[in-house]
Order: sequence, then C-alpha cells, then structure tokens
Amino acid sequence: MHKFTSETQIVADEIFEYALARLKMDPPILDSPRTAQELAADAGSTITEDGLGGTETLRLFGEVLAPACISVDHPRFLSFIPNAPTEYSSLFDLIVGASGLYGGSWLEASGAVFAENQALRWISDLAGLPKGAGGVFVQGGTLGNLSALVAARDHLRHQNKDVTRWAIACSEESHSSITTAAKVMDVDVIKCFVDSSGRLTGASVDAAIDEYETDTNGRAFAVVATSGTTNLGIVDDLRGVGECAKRRKIWFHVDGAYGGAGLAAPSVRHLFDGIELADSFVVDPHKWLFAPFDACALIYRDPPIAKRAHTQHASYLEPLQSEEGDWNPSDYAIHLSRRPRGLPFWFSLAAHGTRAYTKAVEDTLRMAKVAARLIDAHPACELLIEPTLSIVAFTRKGWDADDYSKWSDRLLHEHFAFVAPSAHHGEPILRFAIVNPRTSEADITEILGTL
Ligand SMILES: *Cc1c(COP(=O)(O)O)cnc(C)c1O
Repeated sequence: MHKFTSETQIVADEIFEYALARLKMDPPILDSPRTAQELAADAGSTITEDGLGGTETLRLFGEVLAPACISVDHPRFLSFIPNAPTEYSSLFDLIVGASGLYGGSWLEASGAVFAENQALRWISDLAGLPKGAGGVFVQGGTLGNLSALVAARDHLRHQNKDVTRWAIACSEESHSSITTAAKVMDVDVIKCFVDSSGRLTGASVDAAIDEYETDTNGRAFAVVATSGTTNLGIVDDLRGVGECAKRRKIWFHVDGAYGGAGLAAPSVRHLFDGIELADSFVVDPHKWLFAPFDACALIYRDPPIAKRAHTQHASYLEPLQSEEGDWNPSDYAIHLSRRPRGLPFWFSLAAHGTRAYTKAVEDTLRMAKVAARLIDAHPACELLIEPTLSIVAFTRKGWDADDYSKWSDRLLHEHFAFVAPSAHHGEPILRFAIVNPRTSEADITEILGTL
C-alpha cells in the first residue's frame, strides 16, 4: 500500500486526468442530490476486505458519487454563499495533499506557515490592523468566530475575576454561528436591534447591553459586528460599534466571513470604515476570495491574548514551544493538528498578484448591480433592497414559499441553476449570491426568464 508501483502510476495518471478534465469544464455540470437508497443501489458497498482497486474506486466516484454532488463552483450556483476557486488554488491543493505537511507548528512546517502568514498579512493590512496583528487559517467562519470569542472571554475573565455570567452582544441579523458559539461557551446572547437600513449601530449596542446588565448580574464581554450579512450583504456601522466597544472596554469582533473580501475592492472599501478598531476578525477565502474549501482567515489585533487562551499544554507538546517568536498556528484557535489550508489561497494570491483579486471582487460587485437592474426591468420581480455588496435579494410577485421551493427544485433537477429561497422578516425571498466571476449577465437573464 505504501509503495509507488506501476499500478500506482496508472491510477496517478487517471487521477491527474480526472482532476484536469474537471478543472477545464467551463461550466462544470451542475449535478443534483440523490437519495441514500439510489446511491446504495448504484454504488453498493464500497468498503471491502480486498479493496476495489484504484481504477475501479475512481470510476465509482466519477460515475456515481460525483454526479450526486452539486458543483458549488458552477456560475449558476447562486445559493447560500457559493465557492469559486481559481484554477491555481485548486491545482495547488493537489500539492498540499501530496506533500506530507503538518501545519500546526513552526518547527514542523516553517515554510508553509511563513507563506500562510504572508497571505494573512495581506488581509490584515487591507483592514488597517497594526503590524503585530496575526492569526491562523481555520476550517470556516464558524470555528473562526468561536475561537475569537473564546479568546475574548478569556481576556475579559482575567480582568474581571468576580463575574460569573457572560454575554455576547450581536445584531439580530448576525450569522447563526454566533448563537452557536454562545451555546458552546454557555454564555448569553444580547440581541441588538438594527436600524431601518438593517445595520447594527453603536447606540443600539449600548442600549441593549445596558438593559441586559441592569436586568441580570451578567456582563457583556464582546460585541460582534457583521461586515456583510449572509442573507442581504449589509455591513454594520463598524466605526460606531467599534467605538462603543472601546468605551465599554469590551472585545470588538468583526464577522466578515462572506463580506470581508470587499476590503479588496476600492468601490466599497468605505463601508468597512472602522474595521481597523477590531480586536479580531474573520474572512473566508473559500467564500469570496476564490480559494477552495475550507479556509477562514482568523486575525487578532493582539495575538498573545489568543495564544494564552488557546495553547494546549502537555509534556509531549513542549518541544513545539521552543523558540521565542516562532509562530505556531495551532496556538491561535480551537484545534491542534491542521493541514496548512491557507496554502492554496496563498499560492494563487502570490502567483496572480493582489490586483487580480481586486479586479475579480469588483467584477462580481458590478454583476450584482447588473442583476439588480435586470430585476428592476422584470415585470414580475421586485428588488428587495439595492445590493450593498454582491448579494441581490428580490421577490416574485404573487408567489408564496411553496411556489419558490418548487421553482428552485425544478431548476436544480434540470441542472439549469441553483437558487435556493430564503426569507426576510418572515417573508419568503430569493437571493443571488454572486461571488463567482464567471457568473454572467446571460446567466442572470436566463434564470430570471424562468420566473
Ligand atoms: C458563512 C458565514 C459564516 C460561517 O462560515 P463557515 O465558513 O460556513 O463556517 C459566519 N458568518 C457569516 C457572516 C457568514 O456569511
């Protein structure tokens, strides 16, 4: 099994051929889900004592399993937040997988960690954080938010030893992962109202925290602002919320899992004014920065605070804590073993240069505007709000939730497009999340043509 034989060579050629063919598809096939019964009938039992052999297992994947996986990089996949990795980043992922890299410590992967840190530096500089800022690539925004909030509470706990009940303040529009983090941490959530444009403001945070702290014996340790809500792409008043956090001496976390990529686009950079006040923030390169799953950039203003909260201690780990100044990615989140998952993003960013990233983000922003105008011109559709970033929310006049689901299912099963319905204030809506530079005006026009 651990030997590069002539059979391995055959499978290697087949795998490279498969990977290249998939990468060259423009567009790929959208594909659609199948039931477990259907898959069992076609794939059978794949785990056997003698093994199926590489060629047969690859055939099974290509013919049965892969077609039951939706291509999230399809230009007409506009649901949730899609994924649109550059060819370079997907290709380099093959090398990351083939190279025996352990990305948890400087000792074991200094070269990889050095490269990941340069990619993090680019994002950190775009946000205007100080030179000492730094962090780690974690699995996704969910783990990034949780890790940041754990560091925040640890920090506040050291300063307020008598507090026993803690809370996170966030907007009613913040991502579900914040509530999940609070549940894992067993802390309260202070839900703050948003203003008429859907933004969280400092005044709203102040009012909600004052009320919570008066009514309970609890204490807020962090406020989370969102720089690009998942549903509508709205950016909170980061300066107002950040200044409120400074005044209250609590942690300011910015969740930019989706929208943080907008920092690279001059046309919307002003919306992020105040992000430089953040104590921590996250951006998912697997969302709008054209990297493959799974990669979230988690960045701290003052990394030693995070290190104190997250470093694992054990006799067998002591050799890793050697040199002063060595950067161990494991020390900055809830994890230990990790693949250097920031490398595919780094490779593509290094190879293409930052200007190409700025252009790609601007292109998707422009396509969102185009989509908004096409919706305006559509007799049966109505724009919900003017897009702030690259999410375009709208409704189809006279349709209820059932109509939306049926339409969405039909388009998916015809392998035509995937636009999952969502809701706003309890009412069903549609949304195009445009992060794929290949999504064209023709794609949008054709989808709208089915409404
Ligand atoms: C997607 C998203 C998350 C969660 O990120 P994952 O990478 O899916 O874990 C958190 N916050 C916001 C605003 C998001 O859009």
